[in-house]
Amino acid sequence: MRIRFLGAAGDVTGSAYHVITKDASILVDCGFFQGRKAESAKNRRTAQIEDGKLDAVVLTHGHLDHIGRLPLLTRNGYKGPIFGTRPTINLATLVLKDSLNIQKQDLKRENQKRARAKLPPLEPLFEEADVRKLKPLTAQVKYNQRFPVAPGIEARLVDAGHVIGSSSVELTVSENGHKKVVVFSGDLGPRGAPLLNDPVPFTEADAVIMESTYGDRTHRSLHDTAIEGREIIARAIQNKAKILVPVFAIGRTQLLLYLLAGAFKKKTLPPFPIYIDSPMAIEATRIYRSNNELFDSEALAMVQSGDLGRGLASARPCVKPGESRALNGVKGPCLIMAGSGMCTGGRIMHHLRHNLPIPETAVLIVGFQSPGTPGRKLVDGAKTLMMFGEEVPVRASVHTMGGFSAHADQNGLLDWFGVMAPSRPRTIVTHGEDRARKAFSEQLKKRFSVTAECPALDDEIEI
Ligand SMILES: [Zn+2]
Repeated sequence: MRIRFLGAAGDVTGSAYHVITKDASILVDCGFFQGRKAESAKNRRTAQIEDGKLDAVVLTHGHLDHIGRLPLLTRNGYKGPIFGTRPTINLATLVLKDSLNIQKQDLKRENQKRARAKLPPLEPLFEEADVRKLKPLTAQVKYNQRFPVAPGIEARLVDAGHVIGSSSVELTVSENGHKKVVVFSGDLGPRGAPLLNDPVPFTEADAVIMESTYGDRTHRSLHDTAIEGREIIARAIQNKAKILVPVFAIGRTQLLLYLLAGAFKKKTLPPFPIYIDSPMAIEATRIYRSNNELFDSEALAMVQSGDLGRGLASARPCVKPGESRALNGVKGPCLIMAGSGMCTGGRIMHHLRHNLPIPETAVLIVGFQSPGTPGRKLVDGAKTLMMFGEEVPVRASVHTMGGFSAHADQNGLLDWFGVMAPSRPRTIVTHGEDRARKAFSEQLKKRFSVTAECPALDDEIEI
């Protein structure tokens, strides 16, 4: 079989692996390139998948950088199945709807610029109809059940502990009378984190394609981070201050809600108003709760005892823009979670504008902040922030909560690999900046005497 790397090769977005045998052609993930302009332009390249020859798609999880290019397939006439767990398919539907809206706005802005420069307008990458065509193709699969994907290819998904329903994929490929097992790690979550189960390792494989997002660093423990967060929140409650949390809709929002409910239950924090000021986060939270059988045992016990529901009684969803604006008049203490996660737009912006000049305000940074984003500027201690055409003074305290990552750190990745290491799989490291991939590969060499490969975009390997 051949495997082509159609994304996340030397960076962390655009995950897509094309597996080609003499009898079948399938994709594992079909993600969107995110971030800088050059990267978004990569989404415009015609994917090198010959139309009509693709048999199936298997999804690891519902994040945009793993599912965002799916509508390009239906736009090109793809009619085959798209396999994933139920939460993955639900989250993917939600994420694609949001992505379509953002693309529409971006395209409008881009085309206004092009019109001024007398350039022809750009066509949309895909349209609503292409997204709608995906739904009938989706096929829900359960963890740990082997299912046929395409002629000669079977798959099994196991929990990857990254977001609800996230999976690592094991493909068993039969070709010319030989069987080979290839494992795709997908995005791996941290071990011992609350709410979700730990990533499930594999005992053997002929080849493994694994992520390396944090292959070059170790996280602060989540336990310490949670304690620090609780202290900051307790102080803010005392000061009747607002706590602003820029969030990504899927993952961190639900983890934070869960931790807050736990603190209310244990009375380490008094109940106080929490606002989920993001329609997408509200919907993602609903998807989490309707798949709560996939929670870890502690979280499941909180669901069953009713403690989670009681703990979240003070969490109020803000769906309409008017409800979001009304929060400007609400007095503290309260905690507001709003997007976008890196403060590049969205409702968090007007909360920041109103509250950054107030010294009692606490800003909690719970996710990765790309260089150049307003979120990163806050982390780096900016004294002012340009927002809505004015310079807003930053008098609020800004706290970076490093331990809330949804990705395993270097030790977590090494431990996950360590279980299958004795089977000496061919090891391919992807989904990481080159610095992280290199550092991680060096560790693989040191710990397991494994020489890992780091393919570039569009590279192909034969297994
Ligand atoms: Zn992810």
